[in-house]
Amino acid sequence: MAHGIENGQRRYGNFINGVWRDAVQGEVLTLKNPSDGSDLALIARGTAADIDLAVDAARAALSGLWGKMTATERGRILHKISEAVLREIDLLTVLEARDVGKPLTQARADVVALARYLEFYGASADKVHGNTLPYQNGFTVLSVYEPHGVTGHIIPWNYPMQILGRSLGAALAMGNAAVVKPAEEACLTILEFARIAHEAGLPTGALNVVTGLGAEAGAALSSHPQINHISFTGSLRTGEAVQAAAAKNAVPVTLELGGKSPQIVFADADIERALPFLVNAGIQNAGQTCSASSRILVQREVYEQVIAAMSERYHALKVGAAEADLSLGPVVSTRQKAIIEDYLKLAKQDGLLVAAQGEIVPDAPKNGAYVRPTLLRDVPPQHRLAQEEIFGPVQVIMPFDTEEEAVALANSTPYGLVCGVWTKDGARQLRMAHAVHAGQVFINNYGAGGGIELPFGGVKRSGHGREKGFEALYGFASLKTISVYHG
Ligand code: NAD
Repeated sequence: MAHGIENGQRRYGNFINGVWRDAVQGEVLTLKNPSDGSDLALIARGTAADIDLAVDAARAALSGLWGKMTATERGRILHKISEAVLREIDLLTVLEARDVGKPLTQARADVVALARYLEFYGASADKVHGNTLPYQNGFTVLSVYEPHGVTGHIIPWNYPMQILGRSLGAALAMGNAAVVKPAEEACLTILEFARIAHEAGLPTGALNVVTGLGAEAGAALSSHPQINHISFTGSLRTGEAVQAAAAKNAVPVTLELGGKSPQIVFADADIERALPFLVNAGIQNAGQTCSASSRILVQREVYEQVIAAMSERYHALKVGAAEADLSLGPVVSTRQKAIIEDYLKLAKQDGLLVAAQGEIVPDAPKNGAYVRPTLLRDVPPQHRLAQEEIFGPVQVIMPFDTEEEAVALANSTPYGLVCGVWTKDGARQLRMAHAVHAGQVFINNYGAGGGIELPFGGVKRSGHGREKGFEALYGFASLKTISVYHG
């Protein structure tokens, strides 16, 4: 049985060419609920053979109904899918909460964001146009945007719906046909989305989903010779492997990787306004956010004041089951919990000071992957905890004296994804915005998550290419120049 209830447990197949199919090799993987360690569902363990089928289905869609649609028709379908997603918000919310461990409020916000991406890209589909270019007499030269063809989308587990929305929405708007490989830790909402999109009228083969392990299905997708573009969101190490595999086929790649994003607080800042952003941007989704603000840099005059105020907020943080809808749920898996706890052990071993921690509530289920949110103070800038992406609810805070020092600290990691700057000094706001290495800079605010309209992506080891916003549409298109000689 490819899809349905088996022995009381939900089983999902791969979604290929509009139908559910067992993995070609017949194997399955068990998804766990990180809130209590129970089995959540069975998914197909797709391999290269399943990726082949999905790529063939996508290729056929390009020469079939999907490929023949106008941009306006594609946009209308995206709008219909957006509305259908909102109709199924309750189901998607609960599934994302159980699968990823997100508190229900956050999971619900992710469904709304998915619908909004589809609305935004649905409305954008027929707004992308080329140019006529001045050239020699007797010629008319045009530039036109065409879809790449078959796009591969490799998605991580931390925001399955949001990351699907931003990359698939733009790809479909431009007329590509997609093969999606979600993460093996959390993929149920992406599988349900495939059904919802199909029921809402997305032509067969325009979206195919193959689940499975990164080293199997993911590697097969990134090295597939018939893929024309890869959008990868995930870790630096895997991103390097994906780019190397795609390079063998000369396929363009967008890499959305990790971060160690700072928020920089100057002494003249509105600290009351900054506070919720300083804490929430670090602990949201239990810190498993690429744009998490895991470093807080504070001018020495207000350093102790900010630590005291952040600590107060930390003491109020409650961690428990996703469906209890507290400040934090569990992290995605016991494996991820072990990684974070190793960092906390290292911090202890090296004598780093804990400024404050939140609490795991007493009735949190026994086998859940819970981690106490932790604020570490006076962390030396070159320490591993100040340099590496922990991907858990751990923030480091450190002081600086001058603007130059703040810039040097902000730029001192291998990453460059997001930066927040808190100051009332207008000239300094702009100097800082230019000086920091980041794909997005927020002045007196912080939050890439909600900014569907805002282009997003990294510099340095945070990756390259931009998703989100109108800009993303160009990334999912290939520019063709047409030169006509007419005398
Ligand atoms: P990961 O790199 O382990 O996995 C991401 C995806 O890649 C999964 O679908 C996985 O199955 C697949 N994969 C694994 N090995 C592969 C291989 N050899 N070939 C092809 N695909 C393979 O990352 P993760 O742990 O799932 O996600 C966390 C990371 O993602 C963090 O570093 C985080 O910062 C990053 N992230 C970045 C953004 C962004 O927009 N910049 C957003 C979310 C997460």
